[in-house]
Amino acid sequence: MTMENGEDCCVKVAVHVRPLIGDERLQGCNDCVTVVPGKPQMQKYLVAWFYLNFMYNWGQDRNFIRDVQVQIGTHSFTFDHVYGSTGSPSSAIFEECIGPLVDGLFQGYNATVLAYGQTGSGKTYTMGTACRDGSQTGLIPQVVNALFSKIETLKHQAEFQLRVSFIEILKEEVRDLLDPAFVSKVEAGNGHVVKVTVPGKPPVQIREASNGVITLAGTTEIDVSSQKEMASCLEQGSLNRATGSTNMNNQSSRSHAIFTITLEQMRKLDPIITADGVPIEDVTEDFLCAKFHLVDLAGSERAKRTGSDGLRFKEGVHINRGLLALGNVISALGDEKKRKEGAHVPYRDSKLTRLLQDSLGGNSRTVMIACISPADINAEETLNTLKYANRAR
Ligand code: ADP
Ligand code: MG
Repeated sequence: MTMENGEDCCVKVAVHVRPLIGDERLQGCNDCVTVVPGKPQMQKYLVAWFYLNFMYNWGQDRNFIRDVQVQIGTHSFTFDHVYGSTGSPSSAIFEECIGPLVDGLFQGYNATVLAYGQTGSGKTYTMGTACRDGSQTGLIPQVVNALFSKIETLKHQAEFQLRVSFIEILKEEVRDLLDPAFVSKVEAGNGHVVKVTVPGKPPVQIREASNGVITLAGTTEIDVSSQKEMASCLEQGSLNRATGSTNMNNQSSRSHAIFTITLEQMRKLDPIITADGVPIEDVTEDFLCAKFHLVDLAGSERAKRTGSDGLRFKEGVHINRGLLALGNVISALGDEKKRKEGAHVPYRDSKLTRLLQDSLGGNSRTVMIACISPADINAEETLNTLKYANRAR
């Protein structure tokens, strides 16, 4: 499953296990995920904990007591890369999985990085989509860094132009997070972020050109010439991103957020000289264009788990459609036998897969990072994430 040459599988899967976080420690959670050292394998001893809920009388707080332990089996999965909470996983993920994609962009290969996992598993942290504290540890800031330093070293051989766009897909609708008319404000009192769009603005449309290139009609694309400009696009879009509160996490994200960097380059080639010493001028430049999609996917948990009300549940159903379609597309791409037979890849089943169509499969490179919590209370969702990621291999 290397990506060095085009004929190998185009999807790489890595698992990122975050450490137990404050809330989980307070609840007395145990770490139930074991990473077997020395080889890229993840063993998950799935222990089912039954929480007994004693209500002393009506209206009193519930006490969850964990006192019945049932071992229902041993599950183990093998992945390309597994990153634990020790060392500096984020820079290791960058070096081993993402850096090669940045290099590929300069050769004209599209790339996609997908962060998958339940809400709270570390997708936004891993991608660096939130950019709250100007932290440089997430993958996007590292990609931006690497892009600009590579451009610096190549600037004598080519002219470069970078553009960014930032959109989200919520309830199968594409929205432009960099639209200047797209204002987000925090409502006083409940802390919900409410979005206000100027009425009459046409929705973003996904279009496919005859050469297979996907474009988004109606999105703002910003030309950027410095790292600072790119960081400010990331920050502005993150602020506009839809959030809603659920029982599970009041910052839980119901939408897929896609930060796209487009790199255009005009390479200056040595002029071709004819036999009588005349340079042929019109072949001295070579134009290349490649896209890098960095995707912070919606939470993978099932709707029931988040205690959804009617409205939220509808969002949940749509989100599942994107994640379901993505799983089907990736597994179709990973099935070598089917690929050789030219089997149908169901890109059209969701907006997410439609939009990523020219950057998944083919000559493009894809890395999925499955983010998981090590806490035993999340064991069921963690197992679901590992199964999904395992299917993608
Ligand atoms: P998601 O985007 O999947 O909902 P977040 O990225 O928001 O999850 O992470 C949930 C919480 O866990 C945040 O408070 C975040 O700071 C913390 N967290 C996530 N990953 C890590 C990590 N690798 N190390 C330390 N804290 C983390
Ligand atoms: Mg998030």
